[in-house]
Amino acid sequence: MPSLLGHRSLLRWLLSSALLITAPLVAADESDLEHVTLQLAWYHQFQSAGYYAAKHQGYFREAGFEVELRHGGHDDYGRPIDPVEDVVFGRADFGVSRSDLLLYHSQGLPVVILANIMQRSPLVFLTLEEYGFSRLEDIGERPISVTLPDVDARLSAETLASFHRAGLDLEQLNNQAPSWELEDLLNGTTQLMPGYLTDAPYFLEAFGADPVTISPESYGIDFYGDLLFTRAALLEDRPERVEAFRDAALRGWAYALDNVEEVAELITQYYPTRNARYDIHFLRHEANKLRSLMQPELIEIGYINPSRWEAIAEVYLELGMIEGYDLEGFLYQPPADNRGADLQRLMHVALGGGTLLLLVIALASYLLMINRQLRREVTRRHKAEEALRELAEKDGLTGIDNRRLFEEHLQQCFAHARRHKQPLTLIMFDVDHFKQVNDSHGHLAGDRVLIEITQITQQELRTEDHFARYGGEEFAVLLPGTDHAKGLLVAERIWQANRNHQVASDAGPICYSLSLGVASLDERDRSPHDLVRRADERLYQAKHQGRDCYFGAANHLVSK
Ligand code: GH3
Ligand code: MG
Ligand code: MG
Repeated sequence: MPSLLGHRSLLRWLLSSALLITAPLVAADESDLEHVTLQLAWYHQFQSAGYYAAKHQGYFREAGFEVELRHGGHDDYGRPIDPVEDVVFGRADFGVSRSDLLLYHSQGLPVVILANIMQRSPLVFLTLEEYGFSRLEDIGERPISVTLPDVDARLSAETLASFHRAGLDLEQLNNQAPSWELEDLLNGTTQLMPGYLTDAPYFLEAFGADPVTISPESYGIDFYGDLLFTRAALLEDRPERVEAFRDAALRGWAYALDNVEEVAELITQYYPTRNARYDIHFLRHEANKLRSLMQPELIEIGYINPSRWEAIAEVYLELGMIEGYDLEGFLYQPPADNRGADLQRLMHVALGGGTLLLLVIALASYLLMINRQLRREVTRRHKAEEALRELAEKDGLTGIDNRRLFEEHLQQCFAHARRHKQPLTLIMFDVDHFKQVNDSHGHLAGDRVLIEITQITQQELRTEDHFARYGGEEFAVLLPGTDHAKGLLVAERIWQANRNHQVASDAGPICYSLSLGVASLDERDRSPHDLVRRADERLYQAKHQGRDCYFGAANHLVSK
């Protein structure tokens, strides 16, 4: 009775038909455009051409949308932009991500892929002809720099899998700290690094080098590149709007590929690119590469192939990066296709059966299926809630508490300390001249420094202390039951441990120092913010004293 197995789709078809009949004709009487935001994956360049085209050709407008296109990369404060976080929290409605979206989904985050734009992944391994090798198997003793999961789990799946399939043990190789700086490849610090096919070879050639690319595909690793996604709730609540957005975006992509020159001009005119090197010549080149990654002649733009996603999930599974996967609800299927297929199945059932017995069996399996689905849904929601809480309360880079959670702890500890007449001390600290670290070593190295600061500092704290990232490169430590004298000792330990620590990087060890301000609860304090204000003032006094020191009270500088 194979046709009965189609009951889930049948149910979905019946439901979606009912929805279609009852849904108000949204587009018809919509006078105002709906403002939605699309968070791009990277800075403005041809990589996002379809979205600019959809906007400027009026496709989004025809679909009833005014679309804000936000660049990705880093924000004005140098913080990395995470489209997944922005979409899940509703700061954006749609986002662009890559195959690693599956990792988030497996952690329970409610995200849905709407369209696979790049059918192939742009990630390749780069080397130069002069280094004399073109296969991973021939790396030997050469210095290489590939991203490992402890730096970025999401970036490394394709890398790890390729090395794994090439029969290489990364532990045995001469792997340096990860680098994305082409400079390092040119000067021989490293002889192999990851890069994007769309830009790295172009810039290497511009420097007069002969780049060689090794593709994960030659090791059977076939990931998707950029994809368009949204949060599940948006799709559930307003499927027809999501579909309209998707349609308009895909029309934009078709236009961009057919009118490369015009769209490249459009980008240079309206969307500031990352720097002067990303000029019109580069955009044309990128368009060309992008076409080979999208393969529009072979594959319908945006097409989502469930079997390929299963293969990708299997790679994550093989690497132990996920524990299991369930693609249901993760891969969007356009309604038109669905309805056609489901209608066929419905006909099949009608022709092949019809007896009462058949109906009873169908009903019984429906009930069973619904029961199973409900249970699965409960588990999914449970996981999603946990993942959301993690995202809402933890800092994405360092994994310690974020400012929101810190404020909560501060309120609680303040109230508790006052009620029970117990001491409470707050240490605020800021990394000295951190901008210079970013400027001379790059943002990735800067991120690494921030991560190691939290690790080093954590070792000086007790489990009951609350350690949080307060802002960019500023941290807060709340010490319940700790008076000022003891608080100063903790500040001293944090200061000392960090100034003794060095962070490894491609360009040698990075040293850094901290400035700290310490304040303790005073009977005159009316609100927790009095405490924060004092600690903060002392932190700035420490800065004014020349940095690399901690400051405990008015005219109480404890220094170098
Ligand atoms: P000062 O000693 O006065 O504190 O100097 P500073 O350079 O540390 O201070 P400033 O506030 O001018 O610069 C802080 C820099 O920290 C700017 C910003 O780009 C960087 N930053 C903030 N968050 C992050 C992050 O998550 N990663 C990286 N790499 N850099 C960050
Ligand atoms: Mg600073
Ligand atoms: Mg600062």
